[in-house]
Amino acid sequence: MDQEGEPEVGQHCDRCGYQRYCPAKTEKPEPLPEGAREGRQVQLVFGI
Ligand code: SF4
Repeated sequence: MDQEGEPEVGQHCDRCGYQRYCPAKTEKPEPLPEGAREGRQVQLVFGI
């Protein structure tokens, strides 16, 4: 994601655990797991 929070597709996507839900990366993203839409947002973890 860039600083405005919009997804930015790139090589880092290969290690992104969110890519199956990511509309920028996946044409038909899966719905977010139950609970992810309410309360806290999904936390992204990048292995660098
Ligand atoms: S797949 Fe992950 S890293 Fe790539 S754009 Fe989507 S959220 Fe960002």
